[in-house]
Amino acid sequence: MRDNIKNTLFDLIRIKSVENNPQGLMEVAEYVWNRLKHAPLIKKWERNGKYSVYASFNGSTTTKIVFVGHLDVVDAEPEQFEPKIDGDRIYGRGALDMKGPCAVMIELAEKLIKSGNKLDVGFLFTTDEEVGSENGVAYVLKENFISAEFAVIPDGGVNFNLVVAGKGVLHFKVKCYGKATHGSRVWEGDNAIEKCIKVFYDLKKSGLFPEEPCGIEDHWHNTINLGRLTGGDSVNRVPDHAEMYIDTRFIAPLTVKEFTEKIKSYIPEDAEFEVISYGEPVETPPDNPYLLKMKESVEEVLKREVKYVKEHGATDARFFAEKGINSVILYPIGGNIHGKGEWVSLSSLENLFLIFEKFVEKTAE
Ligand SMILES: [Zn+2]
Repeated sequence: MRDNIKNTLFDLIRIKSVENNPQGLMEVAEYVWNRLKHAPLIKKWERNGKYSVYASFNGSTTTKIVFVGHLDVVDAEPEQFEPKIDGDRIYGRGALDMKGPCAVMIELAEKLIKSGNKLDVGFLFTTDEEVGSENGVAYVLKENFISAEFAVIPDGGVNFNLVVAGKGVLHFKVKCYGKATHGSRVWEGDNAIEKCIKVFYDLKKSGLFPEEPCGIEDHWHNTINLGRLTGGDSVNRVPDHAEMYIDTRFIAPLTVKEFTEKIKSYIPEDAEFEVISYGEPVETPPDNPYLLKMKESVEEVLKREVKYVKEHGATDARFFAEKGINSVILYPIGGNIHGKGEWVSLSSLENLFLIFEKFVEKTAE
């Protein structure tokens, strides 16, 4: 199994499946299709040059479990697309995020094909997670191409701990207008940049966002970041327009709709408000039966306890949450995601395989 996972991961790393290389995205989807084409059901979708491949073992697009992986990676130096092995470590772009876990999913799916078992399991591979998943997981779920009771997403967390909660996200733009005049006669103008700044501080002081240092150890609270502010054109002119881009994160039980309403109540009527993107918060109850089976599987394979943890950043789990589908996220051991020297531990990928295999067996009972 070790060699199979290694070889599959080497194949995947060598395909330059980055956003600006559509050929690579097509090629990597083709690769998975060819490996899994004898599954009881296999489908492929394309939207805006992004491909998704889905295989299921009960012959239906609705399964109890779906494993979810993305085959695209962020760009890197050419040498990072040539995998290297050093002891237990495999180096290469996507080794951990997440061609390593995808190699495990491919190997497991292939094993299920060979066994001929009609299990209630699906595998979804996408090619646009690094650019927001709009044409991959989001598309496939919104169109109801597939459904499941529980999603397993090996794309986050640390050291096999189980990520069971994620913050919701709301990115938005606020545009303010004023009245331009010469910088020496400010009383005749109305400064749009100052208006934007006021809106930002009204939000920041609204009570929705604890101030840092907040004293809350895990920072499991709403946050706000002013990421970009533009406006005006010259030092000696009062600006008549300005816009700012704000990144807010929020926690359950707030929903996107409720949170957006709260934000909007701080936006003055003469300003424009536009949502750029959003995602629901994720929260899998600790007694979810699939989650419990995953915890058992991990602990049996690793022979140690793992914890439930929370994730600040948005993951593909948000799209499942929107559909009311609970999920778990877990990672094998590795490091330097998106950086030079990205690596994954091959023995931990083997463990991930054993965990997933055990989990599939347990959920088939
Ligand atoms: Zn904090």
